[in-house]
Amino acid sequence: MKLEMLKEVSPFTMLQLETCVRCAHCAEYCPVYDVLKKPQTMPGGRVSVMLKMIKGGASSWFTFYRLRAGKLNEIENHIKSVYECALCGRCMAVCPFGIQTDKLWELFRKIVYNFNKHPPVLKEVDKFILSTYNAYGVGNDARAMWVDYLGLDNVKINEPSDIVYFVGCTSSFKAVAQDIAYATSLTLNHAGVSWTLLGEDEWCCGAPLLMIGDEEGAKKMAEHNVRAIENLGARLVVSACPGCARVIKQKYPSLIGRALRFNVMHLMELLDLYIRKERISLKGIERDSTLVTYHDPCELARLSGVIDEPRRVINTVTTSFKEMPENRRDVRCCGGGGILQAVNDELRLNIAEKRVKQAKALEAEILTSACPACKITLMDGTKKVGAKIQVLDVVELFARRLGLM
Ligand code: SF4
Ligand code: SF4
Repeated sequence: MKLEMLKEVSPFTMLQLETCVRCAHCAEYCPVYDVLKKPQTMPGGRVSVMLKMIKGGASSWFTFYRLRAGKLNEIENHIKSVYECALCGRCMAVCPFGIQTDKLWELFRKIVYNFNKHPPVLKEVDKFILSTYNAYGVGNDARAMWVDYLGLDNVKINEPSDIVYFVGCTSSFKAVAQDIAYATSLTLNHAGVSWTLLGEDEWCCGAPLLMIGDEEGAKKMAEHNVRAIENLGARLVVSACPGCARVIKQKYPSLIGRALRFNVMHLMELLDLYIRKERISLKGIERDSTLVTYHDPCELARLSGVIDEPRRVINTVTTSFKEMPENRRDVRCCGGGGILQAVNDELRLNIAEKRVKQAKALEAEILTSACPACKITLMDGTKKVGAKIQVLDVVELFARRLGLM
């Protein structure tokens, strides 16, 4: 397995690594470096560590021998910093040389994982995702229990339908995010479409496994989920979690080795479409003047290009929308990505604090986002700051204004 990792370091990867001039331009935009100020958490610093790991100042074979013998203490000292990254993609977006740092960080984690050098906490997370099929390590038969708790009727579970609503682990199991699943279900019912949940047949999308570096594990999740979705004859998968939507759309084809037989959309794209096509009617809905702002999830805006859709949805319910600074494709991460909560929760909270302070300075009454991980992180940030801002997902705001919840 370890020697196979050499194949992953393609000539293009080496070119990218050698192209980085460590100019530190990206460090100015990195939310982690902004908090930690540690050279090894600068994107360019991480590139140096990667180069040392791959070349080791000697031949690659010698380096791999030394790694196998566990003698690369210098690299081991830097392993924590490999995972002290929110995988927000901002360094990639601002790099004047167009270096695809997102792919580098993914590969770096994959190498560390394959040498079994990833942090113990991530070893645990990896183990329980592989055994329970969800990121919270509980029985997966509880995945759709929120439907009963929240008293929802007319929800199909694992039945042939046009649309599969892929809920994701966070909205399935975390109480504060279950409101997103509830609002999404009410809105899909209101639109009168044919949709279903997968129930316990929904497994983790695999995004956390890719963040840990476990590509084989992610492949197992992908193969199962694709089979479950295609068995129901669905033509569309929709998710309110941009991490799930992106991994299914962008990563599953290469993980399973073929094209998907269904389309994939984030909920904001579908809602925007339904509003524009008048599948969801806004007749008689008065917009109010509550000051609403919106935090772009990195996964949705920068990494998936879904930027105008949530804004159009928000503007159907308020006359007072105000943009956050550092928005759209240039969004400043809230800290909720990259499995940072497990690796360094204090860092996640310090990053969240900075983002919430920006919303507070706008005097926003409601801070919206379109991602369960962002919602939880921004809620934690408001508690830390002591800000009196309500944090909601856009679909919750929308369903409330429509009188659905
Ligand atoms: S990744 Fe790009 S912006 Fe960042 S240090 Fe390297 S060359 Fe500079
Ligand atoms: S992906 Fe985000 S957190 Fe990670 S190094 Fe780049 S800018 Fe920093």
